[in-house]
Order: sequence, then structure tokens, then C-alpha cells
Amino acid sequence: MTWAIPCPPQPSLPIVGSDDRFPVRRIYCVGQNYAAHAREMGSNPDQDPPFFFSKPADALVADGATVPYPPGTDNLHHEAELVVAIGIGGANIPVETALDHVWGYAIGNDLTRRDLQAAAKKVGRPWDMAKGFDHSAPCGQLHPVSTSGHLTAGAISLSVNGDLRQSSDLSDLIWPVADVIAYLSFMVVLAPGDLIFTGTPEGVGPLVQGDVCVVEIEGLGQLTTHIGSATA
Ligand code: MN
Repeated sequence: MTWAIPCPPQPSLPIVGSDDRFPVRRIYCVGQNYAAHAREMGSNPDQDPPFFFSKPADALVADGATVPYPPGTDNLHHEAELVVAIGIGGANIPVETALDHVWGYAIGNDLTRRDLQAAAKKVGRPWDMAKGFDHSAPCGQLHPVSTSGHLTAGAISLSVNGDLRQSSDLSDLIWPVADVIAYLSFMVVLAPGDLIFTGTPEGVGPLVQGDVCVVEIEGLGQLTTHIGSATA
């Protein structure tokens, strides 16, 4: 058998302290997983179970790279997030053993065309073009659990051109990582290579051409993203 067209490249993440790379299968994202952010988006954080959307795996962007300002929007937003990498798959994973499925953690930036998202919400349309566009998933080096341990608390922050925009703590997650894995694995079978962007704290805001956006999570270092000019 040969491929009819050249096989698309396998999306992957670099790993801290290793020349190996982590192959990425799917990217899931949790919506409104910090109470103050849920409120700034006009929702009540006390009512609902977690909800999910996704990004294509080839939307990943490496640390230090430049993201071209995406077409179709006048309001590109940053969202600082903890990213979980799944090493052992499963369905209906119990909360109690959920963390055993985590291979490692990374820093992510869930780039969002906020104007398109707001328009989609208003008329009940899908979020794909607001969330899953090209270059929408900057994600840093993966820290293996074997060296970093599990991240249940620690500062998460985001700055733009040195100005602090988002500042919170992982302990403020409404649904902690274990709960997210349990819920998500009830809806879909998780597999090795899946990433989960776990949601952003309050303080989301716009990025413009020339901005330098830095996300920092205690224990994981920094993720830097440059915003470039519009794609031709
Ligand atoms: Mn998000």
C-alpha cells in the first residue's frame, strides 16, 4: 500500500530533558473552568458540569514561535491554560485513578477569535472557527509526571508586552484535572497522545500584531508567543 498523497506530518510536542517527542492525537479543551472567568463570560459557574470543545492537533504552535494574526477576526484573545497530556487511554475512568492516566503537563495558550465566538453563541452555532483555527494552540514543552509530579496547585499567569493580564492559581480550577479526565472519558474514549487544555482564569483580553504574550505556570516555566502580521 502507498499513500495517494504525501502523508500529513504527525503533530507532536517536545519533552523537557529528552530528545524524544510526544505524538499528539487529539486536543480537547474545557470551557469556563475558573469561576471568575465563567462570570466574565456571562455564565453561572455554580450550575453546570464541565463542557468541552476541541482544536485540531495540527493547530499546535511551538514555544517562541510567531502566530500570524488570524483572518476573519478583529478580536483575537489570549487564554492561559494548564495542558494535560494523556499517556494511558481509557473510558469511564474513575476520578480516584484518573491521574494515573496523565503522562505529563505543559503550558498552553487557547487562542480565541472572541468576536466569532460571541456571534456563534448568540445564534447557537458551533465554536470551531472561533477556537479551532490554524495556529490556535500554542503549547510549550511537556514535563513528564515522573519529574514534575502532579500539578494540583501553583501560580498561573499571563502577560502581554510585560503587563500582567491574567493571574490565578491552579487550585482555583472548578473541575480539577482528575475530574476533567473522568468526565471527558465518559463522553469519549481517551487515548495516548490526547491533550486537554484545562480552561483559563479571568482576565482574558485582546492581542494585536507585534504583541509578545508570555504564559507562566509555577513548575513548568514559560510559554512565549509572538503575534505577527496577518496571513497573506
Ligand atoms: Mn480556554
